[in-house]
This record gives sequence, structure tokens and C-alpha cells, in this order.
Amino acid sequence: MDLSRRGFFKAMGVGSAALAAQPRDSHATASPVSSDDSLGCLVDTTLCIGCRKCEEVCNQRHGLPKPDESFEELTVLENERRMDETSYTVVNKYYPKDIGTLTWRQRPSFVKFQCMHCNDPSCVSACIVGALTKESNGAVVYDVKKCIGCRYCMVACPFQVPAYEYDNALTPHVRKCTFCFSYIKDGGLPACAQVCPKEVMTFGKKKDLLDLARWKMKNNPGKYVDHIYGEHEVGGTSWLYLASEPFTTIGFPKLGEKAPPRLTEAIQHGLFQYFAAPIGLYAVLGGVMWVTGFLKDAQKETDEDGSKKGDTP
Ligand code: SF4
Ligand code: SF4
Ligand code: SF4
Repeated sequence: MDLSRRGFFKAMGVGSAALAAQPRDSHATASPVSSDDSLGCLVDTTLCIGCRKCEEVCNQRHGLPKPDESFEELTVLENERRMDETSYTVVNKYYPKDIGTLTWRQRPSFVKFQCMHCNDPSCVSACIVGALTKESNGAVVYDVKKCIGCRYCMVACPFQVPAYEYDNALTPHVRKCTFCFSYIKDGGLPACAQVCPKEVMTFGKKKDLLDLARWKMKNNPGKYVDHIYGEHEVGGTSWLYLASEPFTTIGFPKLGEKAPPRLTEAIQHGLFQYFAAPIGLYAVLGGVMWVTGFLKDAQKETDEDGSKKGDTP
């Protein structure tokens, strides 16, 4: 028994207006976003067939380079991959550790990964210049104009998501899934959710997605493990997952419920407490930002959706 994405929102009384994004905050925040209206995606890994259409459309929407091997090549799924500066999302294949008697257990699990858009993101907390922000609609977005390339966000992320363009000597950017921010803020869909032929991803208000996840578990006894990944991990994430196997066996880290930003902030505050006002450091950082800003303004590459490449689409 299953319920399609469109059917679910019809049943829940969530129309297109309700799917529209919330107003954008103008400032960075490391505070948790707990609004019932924030948006998310529920990924039902039991439906995924590993076709890689989501990877392909994401690359197209964001103007990322084509991979060496085409998106039709499915043998790449045999090796576990990570997101990098050329791919905001990857699908991996995991063979069941313990084959059960039910047919659904006799197939591998395919799992799509991308930024989890944490409620209380450690990348946002770690960024000393506010280049990463948690928007009120749930997306964690990146502003290349503010980034000084310190890569604290990469160290801080518990999911090891942000990637860095090491090959780009002049204007390297941090790269990660944007939650298709420029689309969802105007009521659109994330490209990956839109294109998926199996409707693996359900996009909507997070509170409705949690209801849907619980509905699926209740009405499909034995199909899912009793765990919605992202409901509580690191304080909750905008992307949520259902699976038929324990999450630690399909590529997910075992994480506590406490958000890492509190630790990050404590370290940063501790460091600054024992140093004199770092005026010289600010001067250097300001100079770096001016130079990188100048170079970025000179760079006119654009994404397909018209936003500047590496900006916050
Ligand atoms: S498009 Fe959908 S079915 Fe295909 S790999 Fe991505 S999530 Fe899985
Ligand atoms: S998964 Fe990592 S990069 Fe994404 S919001 Fe969370 S801390 Fe930031
Ligand atoms: S939400 Fe957008 S940026 Fe993120 S993986 Fe999907 S298509 Fe790519």
C-alpha cells in the first residue's frame, strides 16, 4: 500500500499555496528553525531504483560539469560515492546485510544523498563571515560573495557534505546542495524531487512529511525500520529518510540528537576569549574578501536558472 506524493498532499489538504516557500530571512542565524511551516523532503529509499535521474537533473539545473561517465552508466553505483564540487547529490547502492524472507528485502537499497539542511546547521555556526545561512523555509544556502575560503564549514558538517573547488585557483567556491532555493522560495519544486520517476522524494511542510512517514510505517508493517532518519539526528534535519534496513548499514552516520553547533560555538568563543581583538586578522580577511569579491564580479558564469554560478540558487 502506498500513497503518491500528489495524493498525499491532496489527502492532507496541502495545496500549491501551502507548498510555497516562507519569506526569506535577511540575516544569517545559527538558531534552530523549528517552524511547523518550514519545508523538507521525505526520501523513501525503498522506492528508489537507482536510475540517477536526480543526479542528472541536479547537475543540469546548477550548471555543474558533466561527469566522466554518463548518467546512464549504472555501474558507478557499485562503489560508494560522496558528493563533491561537481555533484550536489549522489545515489549509492547497498546490499542487504541480512536477507529476510520478504521479497523487498532481497533487493539492494538505493540511497540518494545530499545536504540534509539541518535545523541547527553546524556549517552555519562555523562560518565566521555569515556566508552560510539557514533560511526560514528550511534551506541552508551559501553566499559566495561573503565566503573567504576558510573551509570551517567542511570541518564542522557532521555529514561531510560541503565540497571545495580545489581545482579552481582564482575563485574557488564551497559547493553543496542548495535545496533549489531560488525555486522553492517561489513555490517550485526541487529538481530532483520533480524528475524522480518513482516519486521517491516527497516535498512539503516538514510536519506533514513526518505525518506521512508515520502513516507509511503504520500501514506497511515490516517494510520499514522503525526510525525516521533526520527527525532527531543533530537536532533534526529538513531532509528525512525512511528505509528497510538500519540506517548505519546504508551509509548514514550514527549521530546524537544534540546539534553540533553548540560545540562549535563554544570552541570559537573560547578561542576568542584568550586572544586580543584580532584587528590584524580582520584586516587580512577584509583584504581577501575584497580581492575575491572583485574576481567573482569579473566572473560572469551563470547557472541555468540565471543565478550567478556558485551563488545561492
Ligand atoms: S531519480 Fe528517483 S528513483 Fe532514480 S535514482 Fe534518483 S531517487 Fe532513485
Ligand atoms: S548537512 Fe552539513 S552542509 Fe548541510 S546543513 Fe547540515 S551541517 Fe550544513
Ligand atoms: S534539492 Fe536541488 S540542489 Fe539539492 S540535490 Fe535536489 S536538485 Fe540538487
